[in-house]
Amino acid sequence: MYPLLTVDLDKIAQNTRTVTDLCRRHGLQVTGVTKVFGGEPAIASVMAANGVAALGDSHWENLRRLEGLGLDRWMIRIPSIREAECLVRHAEGSLNSDIDTLFALDRAARKAGRRHQVILMVDLGDLREGFMEEAELFRAARLVRRQMPGLRLAGIGVNLTCFSFVQPDEEKMDRLVRLARRLELPHPIVSGGNSATLDLMLRGGIPAGVTHLRLGESLLFGRERARYRYLEGTSPDAFLLQAEVVECRDKPSLPIGTIGMDSYGHRPTFTDQGIRRRAICAVGRQSIDCETMWPTDPGVRILGASSDHLMLDVTDSAQRYRSGDLVQFRLGYFATMRAFTSPYVDKRYRSTGSTAAQPGQRETPFAAASGAAPGQRPVQI
Ligand SMILES: *Cc1c(COP(=O)(O)O)cnc(C)c1O
Repeated sequence: MYPLLTVDLDKIAQNTRTVTDLCRRHGLQVTGVTKVFGGEPAIASVMAANGVAALGDSHWENLRRLEGLGLDRWMIRIPSIREAECLVRHAEGSLNSDIDTLFALDRAARKAGRRHQVILMVDLGDLREGFMEEAELFRAARLVRRQMPGLRLAGIGVNLTCFSFVQPDEEKMDRLVRLARRLELPHPIVSGGNSATLDLMLRGGIPAGVTHLRLGESLLFGRERARYRYLEGTSPDAFLLQAEVVECRDKPSLPIGTIGMDSYGHRPTFTDQGIRRRAICAVGRQSIDCETMWPTDPGVRILGASSDHLMLDVTDSAQRYRSGDLVQFRLGYFATMRAFTSPYVDKRYRSTGSTAAQPGQRETPFAAASGAAPGQRPVQI
């Protein structure tokens, strides 16, 4: 049924290979972030077979579905104390920034007879998660090593460009490496961020001590997130959504009557473009994000959406839409995330079969990252 989300697994395989290859050439291992697609195993297994060294998700409920892919599973949203017991059962490691939570994880891990890995997060200015004071960071590290036998301190990490949109730079990466050295771990994971760090990497700005990135958007859409460039050798359209037209008719472009506030407390404005042909598709904000999706028909423009109606201007299309027709959209990050979270969107996975991993297949981290076209170069930025 529709709306229908079609996922091209071959494109995700190619994107993952291209990006993990690039990272490997810069000495970086990659954790494939699965939260965008709700930890769907059909997609995570493609990431696993095409070059990622581990998997990461913001929900342990998603990680629970990814057992048996042969890779460590990391919870990448700092965990809550109440989920410690579930987390240690369904994840091999987590990113952390709170000492009380670390104690809770230690207790839960010992109770479950497991050793849980932790990466300590530092806040280098984006003001989301992370220790701010060096003294507190090193106190946490000391406590983990001396008083929390259920935990293993695996390294240090930073997240940028997610809340304040602070950009990664050489100075911040150097600071991360200096902090990591002071932890005196034998082979630390030094995790330099997300898809927003790729631009710095391609400019040669990541110092040797950084060992690792956590990537979601770039593996799925081929897009780095500092300047929003698409990387050469990747496809932006692995996720396509089709929705059904339920009304199509000519209407004025200016509303008739007094305009009040929308649901967010803003008063919308409209420009008069005369009579336009408008279509409504049977999908809305509950299942998609209309700011991060684009019609594949160049003559179709998205006007906006309410909970269950997507409003389109189809005047300039070569196709004469009518009820029952399907309109196709390329989905970006948040639209994809909503579609996967929505039970109203049907999902279909397409693959020629050569790229999808068998369930349970084990790949060494980077041995699988072959098959990228020779001479493949990143986009010049
Ligand atoms: C979502 C997330 C990522 C992945 O970000 P992308 O921009 O999709 O690469 C990495 N780290 C953390 C902590 C995240 O929450």
